[in-house]
Amino acid sequence: MTETLARDAFTVATRYWDTLADGRVQCDLCPRLCKMKPGQRGACFVRANLDGEVVLTTYGRSSGYCIDPIEKKPLNHFLPGTPVLSFGTAGCNLACKFCQNWDISKSRELDTLMDRADPETIARAAVTTGCRAVAFTYNDPVIFHEYAQDVARACREQGIRTVAVTANYISEAARAEFYAGMDAANVDLKAFSERFYHRLTGAHLQPVLDNLEWLVHETGVWVELTTLLIPGENDGDDEIRQMCEWVIERLGPQVPMHFTAFHPDFRMTEYPPTPVETLRRARRIARNAGVHHAYTGNAWDPDGQSTWCPACNRKLIGRSGYEITAWNLDGEGRCDVCATPLAGVFELAPGQWGARRVPVRLAEFAPHP
Ligand code: SF4
Repeated sequence: MTETLARDAFTVATRYWDTLADGRVQCDLCPRLCKMKPGQRGACFVRANLDGEVVLTTYGRSSGYCIDPIEKKPLNHFLPGTPVLSFGTAGCNLACKFCQNWDISKSRELDTLMDRADPETIARAAVTTGCRAVAFTYNDPVIFHEYAQDVARACREQGIRTVAVTANYISEAARAEFYAGMDAANVDLKAFSERFYHRLTGAHLQPVLDNLEWLVHETGVWVELTTLLIPGENDGDDEIRQMCEWVIERLGPQVPMHFTAFHPDFRMTEYPPTPVETLRRARRIARNAGVHHAYTGNAWDPDGQSTWCPACNRKLIGRSGYEITAWNLDGEGRCDVCATPLAGVFELAPGQWGARRVPVRLAEFAPHP
């Protein structure tokens, strides 16, 4: 730990906690339900017991801003081709041994985070740079719930949409407020076995599934799923098939599934990278099971990254990497051959952002004194 716990400009009060009979406080934001003595931090590191209340210690602290293609989140059915202002903070409420962003999510170096960025400045930066949305990504926005909500509010006032990239590991008590601030979510469904979740993420599968059913059926949030396939851990035919069947039965076949490639990282450097054939196999299993839109990711596979009409198999949105190469939707977001509606959020034409990744210095958008 490089920072002692003290109230500062980045510390804010939170809701979703209780005082226990033994004097500790319990954070109720996520299913971990961390119990903390005074001065202790929760498992996510960024929420803590300060003077007998649970506080968030990273309000306004960011690990950096970048404009990405929306397809990089990945979201293939939400304003395709448009730029999204992306940022994260520090910490995470899961402990994935294969984390692909561990320098951020496992960061204990809060002092290395950037200066406080107020929500209005983030919204202004998104508008000025032509972004259509702001994404809470790089680490899980659940743990910086209060900050994410304020940023979401400021964005919506400026006509900017909001995207959560999340493991969906949030309590029933907090999820309605959290997702009320979001227009779209890419949810990491990390595997389809409790064993995997318990052993490799420090979390549990069932709350993620319960939250997914609620999210798809009880909210207006556009949802896509991502599974990072790790050789030998979650890439077996049976597990993928069971996952797809659950998605179809409980969420519906229109929910897109992304199967993405693992790169050896963090505590799993002894594992090989995922072969593209594994991604294609998973996509085949999903399509055979009845998933309308299954994608491969983190690998070169234009067919696996394009969107196909579930009724007539017309290529509706062609992609080459993050570039849009074909757009065959009519003005109402339907297949231009058979008029089958494509599930998602579309406009008359795709954005033209392409594959660019542009770092943004937020200070340039702060109000002048
Ligand atoms: S949000 Fe953080 S402190 Fe709260 S229960 Fe989850 S891991 Fe623990």
